[in-house]
Amino acid sequence: MNEFVETLLDLTWHEPKKSYDVVIIGAGGHGLATAWNLATRHGITNVAVLEASYIGSGNTGRNTTIIRANYGIPESVRFYQRSLELYRSLEEETGASIVHSTKGLLWLAHTESGMRAERARSLMNQACGANTVMITPEEAQVLCPQLDLSGGGRYPVMGASYHPGGATARHDRVVWAYAQGAMRLGVHIIPHTPVVGLVRSGSRVTGVVTPTGPISAGVVLSAVGGRVTAVAAMADLRLPIRTHPLQALVTNAYAPDFGPIVASSELLCYVSQTGRGQMLMGAEFDSQPSYSQQSSYEFLQTVSTKMTHMLPFLRNLRILRQWAGICDISPDYSPIMGFTGVDGLLITTGWGTWGFKAIPAGGEAMAELIATGKVPALIAAFGLSRFASDHAMADQGSAGTR
Ligand SMILES: Cc1cc2nc3c(=O)[nH]c(=O)nc-3n(C[C@H](O)[C@H](O)[C@H](O)COP(=O)(O)OP(=O)(O)OC[C@H]3O[C@@H](n4cnc5c(N)ncnc54)[C@H](O)[C@@H]3O)c2cc1C
Repeated sequence: MNEFVETLLDLTWHEPKKSYDVVIIGAGGHGLATAWNLATRHGITNVAVLEASYIGSGNTGRNTTIIRANYGIPESVRFYQRSLELYRSLEEETGASIVHSTKGLLWLAHTESGMRAERARSLMNQACGANTVMITPEEAQVLCPQLDLSGGGRYPVMGASYHPGGATARHDRVVWAYAQGAMRLGVHIIPHTPVVGLVRSGSRVTGVVTPTGPISAGVVLSAVGGRVTAVAAMADLRLPIRTHPLQALVTNAYAPDFGPIVASSELLCYVSQTGRGQMLMGAEFDSQPSYSQQSSYEFLQTVSTKMTHMLPFLRNLRILRQWAGICDISPDYSPIMGFTGVDGLLITTGWGTWGFKAIPAGGEAMAELIATGKVPALIAAFGLSRFASDHAMADQGSAGTR
């Protein structure tokens, strides 16, 4: 474990026990938030979180940290609004800094159909408790003076939806805030311990298999990001998930006066400024399903071309770093949380390119489900059974820009 991290945080490590009430597979944001919520909200502390690599090594440590609730269907708006609100109080609740910053989010529209989509989004958001309003190009430029409203003559800005609650938080700090909070209450978080099989008794999952032996569990929760189909297959469960790489990049530092998060839902790219002044950018996921975390030149070229049309100052910056994560994409671009049809095995998945913002509400809801055995109303629409009953929660337009 990184000594630097240990000196800053209050962490207690344990060898795995033979048995726990709850075993969570995957110490990303969703696994850790569920463990923390089990301990803090329900007093359930006989919990282990098993991580194949180091904590936060998956998508939670690789994302572009955008938090927003401006989704396109009522169920999602309510869920993500809850998460956005929980993020605001997370530092107070965990006692750890997550460098949360409310910046406001601009979604630019470049065509009439884009404007229609953003108008519909704004009305839907307001009806469901999220604050999103339409603004003119001139108002957008007041919020972001660096914006070229002509879009380089190619992507003119016709207007935008503005979501003042849009925010960012340091992804690794979020991971460690939950990990420290859960550990302090007695949860065992065990890195470098992959789950390689599930223990079954008849049709029920009763534990997990690790390279150092089996561990029994009252309940097993899979929170493994892009590896979910492999874990589900251990229970002979086939999930409607495809794993796709998603890439991001940062530039060198720019004057620290780039206020909002700026995205284009039509060009499928977005940018925000980090606390260190770097410009952090992303785009849509790679179309080819893959488990590769390799970066591509094509990504650099596409993002740079689109972004510099909207924000010409970016041409003068240098790209410092690019990287990729692997995302669990559901057919309707909404998460899948809850029961699997296999007794003893729960999942939180389908977080795709949009699941960082969902960590507080996802963890809260999954912990309530485990503690009570009842699906919380906030996530009732996101069960796996929706695909069999033809109740998909289609919201691709909201997922496109994280
Ligand atoms: C480049 C990029 C940009 C993104 N930008 C945003 C954004 O701006 N906003 C947003 O909301 N979302 C964003 N996302 C998506 C977001 O990061 C993810 O949806 C979210 O972090 C998923 O969290 P998780 O806990 O489900 O998975 P992960 O963080 O991936 O954690 C899963 C963990 O499970 C572990 N694991 C896997 N298999 C096993 C096993 N067999 N045994 C034990 N452990 C195992 C992995 O090592 C990993 O640590 C982005 C993602 C990427 C890649």
